[in-house]
Amino acid sequence: MIQFSEAQPLIEALEGNEFAFVPTMGNLHLGHLSLIRTAKGLDIPVVCSILVNKLQFGANEDFDSYPRTLSADLDALKELDCDYVFTPNNDLYHDIDELKCAPELSQILCGKSRPIFFDGIITILNWFFNTLKPHHVFMGEKDFQQLFIVKNFVTKRHPDITIHGVPTVREPSGLAMSSRNNLLSEDLRSHAAKFYQMLKESVDLFPDTPIPQIQKQFKSMILVAGFEYDYFEIFDKLDITNCNPTSKPIVAASAVTLEGVRLIDNIIVDF
Ligand code: AMP
Repeated sequence: MIQFSEAQPLIEALEGNEFAFVPTMGNLHLGHLSLIRTAKGLDIPVVCSILVNKLQFGANEDFDSYPRTLSADLDALKELDCDYVFTPNNDLYHDIDELKCAPELSQILCGKSRPIFFDGIITILNWFFNTLKPHHVFMGEKDFQQLFIVKNFVTKRHPDITIHGVPTVREPSGLAMSSRNNLLSEDLRSHAAKFYQMLKESVDLFPDTPIPQIQKQFKSMILVAGFEYDYFEIFDKLDITNCNPTSKPIVAASAVTLEGVRLIDNIIVDF
């Protein structure tokens, strides 16, 4: 595995060949590694980037405390035989085109409490895509809204790129793996698994129970269990703006906070 912190030598190493790209913010866990493994299945070089993207964090969010574990990340990527790792330095922020997502996609769900989040993600991904020109990009279904927005953006602005969604990897408890889980104590981590259990219980009520009633029940369970509630929505898998679907495929998605740590998760019901 070769590490680059400048784009040009990486571009030269890739020699114009087709390659797969896995963008991450580091602090790699089995969810990230599943993206790398899936990307390796294409039998083309795999580039993983590690950058805690400051553009996607609001002023009062956890940019400073976001876990950074570069040396362990490099070991994990080496172990998986990832071909290249790109760890760009902060110079990239100097001449970046700041993009805005379609507000009807970026200001709903997670965007209600994080209004600049998806603009920051699209801005940095656009920079990566223009600079490196990947052919295949692997992203997690755990961040379903992000995956949806990126697919939408790429169709319009980077039609040569194929976005591959990879299923969510969970702890044995059911808790979706996330770098932010590392900010929870061990006790809280096992408590956090209740979030997924409640999500599962709630999605099972669809479509027999009306969505507002499912939302109400979910919210009350979440509050009783000591989480702060952000949102719970059931939306059309093919149109995240339709939060009143009558049939499957649907996604039930939620965000909550446990002792200051934001957790998001979703369940996709395809059939
Ligand atoms: P992040 O480092 O949090 O920006 O995530 C980088 C990529 O890993 C994104 O495409 C995420 O959706 C994906 N990812 C994060 N957690 C998981 C997980 N538990 N399972 C699968 N993919 C994940």
